[in-house]
Amino acid sequence: MRLANLDGRATIVTDVGLTDVARASNGAFSASVDKCVAQLDLLRKWFDSARPHTTDDTTPDELIGDPRLGPVVTAPQQIFAIGLNYRKHAAEMGLVIPEQPMVFTKFVSALCGPNDQLPIPGPTTDFEAEMVVVIGRTVRDVSVADALSVVAGYCVGEDYSERTLQMKGSPAQFSIGKSFKNFAPIGPWLTTSDEIPNPNDLRISSEVNGTRFQDSSTSDMVFTIAELVSYVSSVCELRTGDLMFTGSPHGVGQGHKPPVFLKPGDEIVTSIEGLGSIRNRAISHP
Ligand code: ZN
Repeated sequence: MRLANLDGRATIVTDVGLTDVARASNGAFSASVDKCVAQLDLLRKWFDSARPHTTDDTTPDELIGDPRLGPVVTAPQQIFAIGLNYRKHAAEMGLVIPEQPMVFTKFVSALCGPNDQLPIPGPTTDFEAEMVVVIGRTVRDVSVADALSVVAGYCVGEDYSERTLQMKGSPAQFSIGKSFKNFAPIGPWLTTSDEIPNPNDLRISSEVNGTRFQDSSTSDMVFTIAELVSYVSSVCELRTGDLMFTGSPHGVGQGHKPPVFLKPGDEIVTSIEGLGSIRNRAISHP
């Protein structure tokens, strides 16, 4: 099942059209995506058994790029992000592969919809295509073997990064340089985890103005999705609706010679096999 936030209303996306969750269920389920994510198993059971009519015949392909799409979780309590989690990306950044997951945060106010505009705060703003995990229930100390069972689903995300601020200071503090306005778009919708049996075998890519810069597979991750969820849960309680950005493959702007940084007018399209695409237009910082 695919759950979207369309015009602020929880909406199920099917191949033949859209279903407004609150209307089709006569109010049994909320129009709030956050409440739906917290009841995802019940929602899926209702959807599979009731087979509600679509309320709109928009197809998934037509919906991608729609500016009405918002983030499928609007108020996560925590956003975790993982640095240097793809082997070839660590190499292009000139940094060593971590021996344990390198965890930072993107502050919640950076979260935005999949197709929102990206204000460019500085001359070294970079893109990072990432797979984003949505946590489905509150848990601590989940084992690697059980970790995927606490995942509600997956989205496409971008971990936009202002490299100068990210690397400033010793030791550098990644979180602040990755938390400008709209630096954390997610979408286009949440694809529930039952539809993604192996999250570590998906093609992931990003394009800037039609040129493909990143083209890799989530199989290149240093730590698998299950290992990341388990590791973070050994320290932090994971809460329903929390997000985890799971690292970016090689091919980011800084990895090119000379580096390719974003400028107003650029269009960034980020895609993951089976999860869809998001697109952000860079604009001048107001
Ligand atoms: Zn990243």
